Amino acid sequence: MSSHDLHLEGAPFLKEQNAGLYEPAGSKSLGEATERSSKQNRAIAAEIPSWQDWRESARQIKQFAIANLDKLLVQFEERISARGATVLWAENAEQANRLVLDIAREHHVKTVVKGKSMVSEEMELNHTFEAAGIRAVETDLGEYIVQLAHQRPTHIVTPALHLSAEDVGKIFAERLGEPFSADHQHLTNVARRHLREEYLKADMGMSGVNFAVADTGTLVVVENEGNGGLSTSTPPIHVALMGIEKVLPSIYYLPVFLNLLGRSGTGQKLTTYTHLIHGATPGKKLYVIILDNGRTNVLADPATHAALHCIRCGACLNACPVYRRVGGWAYGWVYPGPIGSIVTPGLVGLKSAGKLPFASSLCGACQEVCPIKIDIPHQLVHLRHRAVNEPSPMNSLSERLTWKAWAWAMSGSKRYRLAMAAVRLGVRMAKFLPWHPGKLGAWTRGRELPRVPGPAFRKSWSRHRSQLDSHDRSDRT
Ligand code: SF4
Repeated sequence: MSSHDLHLEGAPFLKEQNAGLYEPAGSKSLGEATERSSKQNRAIAAEIPSWQDWRESARQIKQFAIANLDKLLVQFEERISARGATVLWAENAEQANRLVLDIAREHHVKTVVKGKSMVSEEMELNHTFEAAGIRAVETDLGEYIVQLAHQRPTHIVTPALHLSAEDVGKIFAERLGEPFSADHQHLTNVARRHLREEYLKADMGMSGVNFAVADTGTLVVVENEGNGGLSTSTPPIHVALMGIEKVLPSIYYLPVFLNLLGRSGTGQKLTTYTHLIHGATPGKKLYVIILDNGRTNVLADPATHAALHCIRCGACLNACPVYRRVGGWAYGWVYPGPIGSIVTPGLVGLKSAGKLPFASSLCGACQEVCPIKIDIPHQLVHLRHRAVNEPSPMNSLSERLTWKAWAWAMSGSKRYRLAMAAVRLGVRMAKFLPWHPGKLGAWTRGRELPRVPGPAFRKSWSRHRSQLDSHDRSDRT
């Protein structure tokens, strides 16, 4: 299955392909890399005695920011516009794509260099550029690799997590005509050499936004490779893409988030580069596109709106036993892992998100590592509840009837006995039927038909009691 097949189909989770990883041969790389990241995160967090206080502060700041989005976003717009930036608003991905294309056409853009942006993935911006004949080059190393391989990112922080150095060496040999090598330093140098040329040729640069600070009108972009800085400052135009949830009330709160993001995302005390962009550089253009794309739907549900507190550090993915097993593509859309299972139903609708809220063991590891203390397991349970009570793929007639029958059987002792007798009879009869019938086959293939146990306890007990009674009676006589 190619990753492109998954595009907005609704998550194919738990379909027949779930026997293993979607990413070819990704199991080993993914398992090792996520385990390593989780260990690093835990170790670095353990060094900070006030780690829990930082988490609580971040939670409260985000809670305030999301509750006051309307005022803070307008304040951010006013402040950054006063320093030459143009702020544009998009209700959905289509509008955002149109805005980017309008900017590109107005400035006769032929080549774009792109820093890392999950919003750009969400908008499928590269397809839009391709259709318009504009060359778009991803410059984050992981994004660059998956773009060359015509794949989708598997992780929100480390997009090429599923690929080994050998895989990357083969991709570079095939797509860039470079001699094969699996040496990490050599591969990095190759990417750097090719990307340098792209920065110098580019007519427009793009970036995501980690935080948008309202009181100073500042865009904050954090990164490790220097590509974010080059993409935003080398070309004459910079277009920044951000979701409405990126806003922070004040620059004074930024250090809390920078400390948490570096440690939780990549196990670093601080990311290598933190860019604070206060407005347009003289002689250059700065556009900021603020995207809703379903986020206000998430905001409208009090049980899940804390999902908007997410700072996309990826720690919950690394800690999740389900993500570690199946990888990112299985989730069928841009945001994988535990946070994706909440965000995706909010952004594309519960109906399209299919079974994502059920793709969790609810072990709570995600909540434990989340730097913003987002209660992911309870949000998943809430979405499961909605999924079985609202029209959705989880709410089929047969499933509803099954649960109704179960509730009826469990609500009285006579009904329960009757149901158990029916089950015993059913299991006895089942051995005369084919054991892998139709859709049930996916479930029955890995299971044995249980053996019907001896008489039920109630029956044995009443037989035993009547024997005891008859002994008593004979003793007395
Ligand atoms: S939910 Fe928490 S742990 Fe997961 S990506 Fe968002 S901030 Fe990080």
